[in-house]
Amino acid sequence: MQETVTYELKEHLKSERLKIALEVNTLIRRKMSDILVKEGFIEIPPVIFSSVTDPLNHPVYDPTFDYEGTRYSLTKSMIFHKQMIVQAIPKVYTFSPNVRLETADKAKSGRHLLEFTQLDLEMLDSTREDAMKIGEKLVSGAIKEVTEKMPGKLKILGRELHVPKTPFKVYKYTEAKEKYGKDFEQTLSELEKEPFWIIDIPLKEREFYDREKDDEKGILRDMDLMYPEGFNEAISGGEREYEIERIKERILAKGQTFEQFKWFLDYAEGGLRLSSGFGIGIERLIRYICGFERIEETHPFPKTPGKFSI
Ligand code: AMP
Ligand code: MG
Repeated sequence: MQETVTYELKEHLKSERLKIALEVNTLIRRKMSDILVKEGFIEIPPVIFSSVTDPLNHPVYDPTFDYEGTRYSLTKSMIFHKQMIVQAIPKVYTFSPNVRLETADKAKSGRHLLEFTQLDLEMLDSTREDAMKIGEKLVSGAIKEVTEKMPGKLKILGRELHVPKTPFKVYKYTEAKEKYGKDFEQTLSELEKEPFWIIDIPLKEREFYDREKDDEKGILRDMDLMYPEGFNEAISGGEREYEIERIKERILAKGQTFEQFKWFLDYAEGGLRLSSGFGIGIERLIRYICGFERIEETHPFPKTPGKFSI
């Protein structure tokens, strides 16, 4: 382990760029909360640790501990908590701190931290398309707020930013991959000038819980939002599987166990209704708005994959 942090901490904490990033953080959290409250959403508190958390579809180290005979994990996302509470409160959101101990190779991306915050939301009896509309409102609303309230600060950063037009362009995952090759997400992100969606992502690229299309096996009713200018992924979300037999089938198909998701499955046995939702990474949104090369610049105490951090 390295004994010093990889950036000049004192300089970073005093820097004008960090102060501007934190002002953007303050402004966009408030703006996005306002938008959601106007849409009828209710804020729920974050869950910091749980016996059930997101299995993710890529390898991370799992920070766990035992307490009174139960094994807990730090929250990787609140997907299951959202799906449970949305059955009773039909529009919910939370600013959820997530811990994902990403592998060291992820440091190269400039968009991965070990600790970050998602604005995570879920809507009952709603489709992917309903969720996409909310995603567009949040992203364009946050950008508009910063361009209107902080033009001088954006100028200091040398950032030229314009409010994107809605609705955003939509690509189908398989078609885009065929046309632009294996690295199509980064390629498209570099080509596009406005945020865009990638929809119909195959099950093998996702966790078990997004809903499979009725007319296309192995393809999900899900989506990612991508930033332009090479900034890559902003949002992941979709419609969720809600029928217990389909949920169980999926867990087994992914090689996971019912035990891992016990509390969620117990709840789901009682019947769930369709819901849709997504998570948007706050630090990634600030990075995009500020035009920073690296996500570390958005956070006073960033944790870089594979590196020592305070
Ligand atoms: P996921 O559903 O796993 O794609 O996570 C939802 C959103 O959280 C992503 O679209 C990103 O904006 C953000 N996110 C995920 N992992 C990280 C990470 N390691 N560091 C920063 N942001 C992340
Ligand atoms: Mg994702």
